[in-house]
Amino acid sequence: MSMTESSPYGAKAYWRATAGDRPVFEPKRRGAQYDVAIIGAGFHGLWTAYHLLKEEPSLAIALIDQQHVGFGATGRNGGFASTKVGMRVEDLERKYGGPATHDVLRAMARQIDDLVATIRAEEIDAEVDYGGLLIVATNKSQQKRLTREFRAIERIGLETMSLLSVEDVRARVDSPTYLGGIHDPHCAVLHPLKLARGLAKVCAGRGLDIYEDMRVDRVVATSDGMLVNSGATQLRARKVVATLNAWAGEFRPAFRRTVLPVYTYILMTEPLSDAQWQTLGWSGREGIEDSRLHLHFYRRTRDGRILWGGSDNRVPFLGRIGKRHDANEWSFQRLTSTFRSTFPTLAGVKFEYRWGGAFAVTPDFLPHYGIAEAGHLIYGHGCCGHGVGLSYLGGQIMRDLIQERRSETERLLFMRPDHGAFPPEPLRSIGGSLTLQESRWFDDAQAKGISPAQEPLLLRLAPKWFA
Ligand SMILES: Cc1cc2nc3c(=O)[nH]c(=O)nc-3n(C[C@H](O)[C@H](O)[C@H](O)COP(=O)(O)OP(=O)(O)OC[C@H]3O[C@@H](n4cnc5c(N)ncnc54)[C@H](O)[C@@H]3O)c2cc1C
Repeated sequence: MSMTESSPYGAKAYWRATAGDRPVFEPKRRGAQYDVAIIGAGFHGLWTAYHLLKEEPSLAIALIDQQHVGFGATGRNGGFASTKVGMRVEDLERKYGGPATHDVLRAMARQIDDLVATIRAEEIDAEVDYGGLLIVATNKSQQKRLTREFRAIERIGLETMSLLSVEDVRARVDSPTYLGGIHDPHCAVLHPLKLARGLAKVCAGRGLDIYEDMRVDRVVATSDGMLVNSGATQLRARKVVATLNAWAGEFRPAFRRTVLPVYTYILMTEPLSDAQWQTLGWSGREGIEDSRLHLHFYRRTRDGRILWGGSDNRVPFLGRIGKRHDANEWSFQRLTSTFRSTFPTLAGVKFEYRWGGAFAVTPDFLPHYGIAEAGHLIYGHGCCGHGVGLSYLGGQIMRDLIQERRSETERLLFMRPDHGAFPPEPLRSIGGSLTLQESRWFDDAQAKGISPAQEPLLLRLAPKWFA
């Protein structure tokens, strides 16, 4: 049994159990010179390959993964493709101003439309349901935060989003905890691993060479391009793209100052009966999240289950990623208890799958795209838990960087040169962990009706220290 199969993720992850047999990819140009080598076969790597091949079908591209397509966050996430970019609208507006916030969120809304249209046009069976996002408030403090958020949405002119009363929200999904909400029509829920594998097959059919079980140790610049080293195997490429997300700092130490690996966890219920669905009145296909700082996210699946995740994020010591973190009993218990209080009519429902995974957080809570190593290395990472939608845009940004051409994506916030920096280890992981613990404590206090006057201290100070 391989390392992957013996991990808790492999044994208990719903997406993997329902994605069918893992496809086998055979690189056709094995050993040849490539135009582009992409390291990391998650959504960022896959969409970069897709957008490049769409424009220039003759390009020779290699996509390499240490494990397999969708092994990282891509094959483990909640499957929400939303317009979110890592910060609340209110915080984006305060930090970058209304026009920049408007541009980025309008661009994201268009991207979600395009993403859904592309999946359909390519006939990828990714179980896409385009039902929007419902952001709910479940206590008085969250309600205040939600109202402030909607005022910011109104100020910057995102007219497609609407504020919902408690009656409106409970007419969509009936939980006694709901006090009101915001609806954003631009969100789809999907089966992320089916999407990743489907996209890989589409790209392989257009000539992409996919190398699995190939961990890249080093990339070296030579007189005629880059040498990609993996043990005894070497590939040559004109340009290299690193889309390693939580692993970015393991690959290139300089990225440790701008990427922090953070784990989060998910439960999946057994299929609910029609009678159980009726108690919730939940007939739409919207994704739902609450307004905690460590938010819960949840949604239906095509086979009638509820995916329930979030509310607790963990920073591994020294940022070390490993299968021991793929399950966390404390987080699973906590998720069980919040599920039961949100949906008391589902008291007897069992959880059949549970798993976790690492995503990447940046100092400014925005994804980073850029160029390093004298123009030979292009990178993209750090979607702070929102990469399902963002990576579709990220793939286009990286395509443009590879082709050295200017485009309208340059104006978006992700291309700023001053993204800030985390302190060196062990301060990066200790500071990150304390910041998350304080904000979790803050969320829990608010749930008990205690409402501290200000947002958590460390969270308020973090942008000043890092960015
Ligand atoms: C539990 C969970 C729930 C989430 N829910 C959502 C959600 O609902 N909506 C949303 O938008 N986002 C969500 N996210 C975040 C989202 O999954 C990520 O932002 C997105 O998948 C990132 O894709 P990526 O390609 O950048 O990285 P990844 O998918 O992590 O891919 C990186 C790849 O690099 C490979 N790799 C690493 N090192 C090497 C090496 N040295 N050599 C070769 N290969 C290497 C890894 O094996 C991995 O496959 C969630 C994340 C998690 C963990």
